Amino acid sequence: MQVFKFGGASVKDADSVKNVASILQKYGTTLTIVVISAMGKTTNKLEELANAWFYKKENTDAVLNELKTFHLSVIENLFGKNSEKIINDIENVFVELSWAIEEEPSSHYNHHYDQIVSQGEVLATKIVSAYLNFIGINNIWMDARGILQTDNSYREGKVDYALSESLVQSQLLPQFKNTDIVITQGFIGGTSENYTTTLGREGSDYTAALLAYFANAEKVIIWKDVPGVLNADPKYFKNTKKIDELTYHDAIELTYFGTSVIHPKTIKPLQNKNIPLYVKSFLNPAEAGTLVRDSDKRVEVTSYIFKINQILFSIQPKDFSFIAEDNLSAIFSLFSKYNVHANMIQNSAISFSVCVDDDENKIEPLISELQEQFKVLYNKDVQLMTIRNYNNEIIAKLSENKIVLIEQRSRNTHQMVMKEE
Ligand code: ASP
Ligand code: MG
Repeated sequence: MQVFKFGGASVKDADSVKNVASILQKYGTTLTIVVISAMGKTTNKLEELANAWFYKKENTDAVLNELKTFHLSVIENLFGKNSEKIINDIENVFVELSWAIEEEPSSHYNHHYDQIVSQGEVLATKIVSAYLNFIGINNIWMDARGILQTDNSYREGKVDYALSESLVQSQLLPQFKNTDIVITQGFIGGTSENYTTTLGREGSDYTAALLAYFANAEKVIIWKDVPGVLNADPKYFKNTKKIDELTYHDAIELTYFGTSVIHPKTIKPLQNKNIPLYVKSFLNPAEAGTLVRDSDKRVEVTSYIFKINQILFSIQPKDFSFIAEDNLSAIFSLFSKYNVHANMIQNSAISFSVCVDDDENKIEPLISELQEQFKVLYNKDVQLMTIRNYNNEIIAKLSENKIVLIEQRSRNTHQMVMKEE
């Protein structure tokens, strides 16, 4: 039993879906759970729809129509004259979407967000599943919301592991009596009250890892538009290298610091059951990709993780106190309340610095609540550079013509928050 995960880029249009089919034909010959994300940029569009409706920003009909036209054109391309049944199915999803935005929004943005944004995965899996059956690749479609059970922390659903595991065993695995391929959605789960939750943006990798864990899979393959895990993002660096093999530990560190090929939550469940993870290219499926597993091989190549659009906070007590445990705990609980993840932290006696992604929706309310208790200074538009296996020459080169605001190093990792000069 194996788990495959196909992300948005691998199903971004009709040709891509055909490519997924050919990969399954070739590599999906044993029992395979296939986890699929929303097509192309659908999740962003659905976020736009949720915002347009909730904040009464723009015309929701235009966004909805755009989404519908896109999915219908993929269907047209894949099924030609045989589209009637799948179009019906898809129309139903759009009816549900229009119901979701018919009423006046309540105050619970995150709840509404999940009911709307989750439909991207529903649409994608319905189309891919129908297409595979259409061309003779027998498969069964399963609704992940009936399997991955979460609490009602909307947009960041916390998975109930015991319950989800028993549902995978009792609902999902028995499907393999009738098929070799089960298709399901990444990124989404369900609550005990039958509401939909999402697991956080880019969460489909995490779904794949959890299903592999619950089903005791032999391996997971994440199919990507890159040849594997690279030592740097080609968007910012020339001459990137593919890393052939990573330990779970190294993979956790790299993803934690922001390597975006794999979602950071993916590795732990796999490590706990020693399930190997392959990151492979859906464009060159025969190539080896990157293998993540337990071994005593440490990566020696230098890895660069560059994050732009960061904000660096400096937080100071308003009274005469130091930055000690009670202040830190107040600060951290606010970060956790607004779901803001600290990318780098530095502490001194009277000031606490923390660098985070500058996500307006979260940062603005965070700042105003922090300001009730603390003096908050911040630097917007800064960059965070993390270097694993660094040396001084590399650091000097990367900070050339930049102002380094804070930096920090451990034995393997050097981090610096920088600003353009
Ligand atoms: N479709 C979701 C997103 O774009 C989940 C994923 O791609 O993993 O965030
Ligand atoms: Mg995606």
